[in-house]
Amino acid sequence: MPDLSEDIRLPVACPKCGSHLYRVSEVHNPDDKVFCASCKYHLCSYAEAAEMLKEGPSSKTEALIEKVVNRHGK
Ligand SMILES: [Zn+2]
Repeated sequence: MPDLSEDIRLPVACPKCGSHLYRVSEVHNPDDKVFCASCKYHLCSYAEAAEMLKEGPSSKTEALIEKVVNRHGK
């Protein structure tokens, strides 16, 4: 089985282990799940991750990060 995943770095830290390194499928479908590279925590969809990467440090990204973290924080 070829490894069809790649690592990306996101501004949001994994709520479980604090890592910023995530693993996504090479296919980059918006619906693909983004997992923490160290603990395999499912953070968000690739579409959300791509949005964070595209925006860079901005208030919109902060809002998106907050949304993602809040969704898992309960
Ligand atoms: Zn983690």
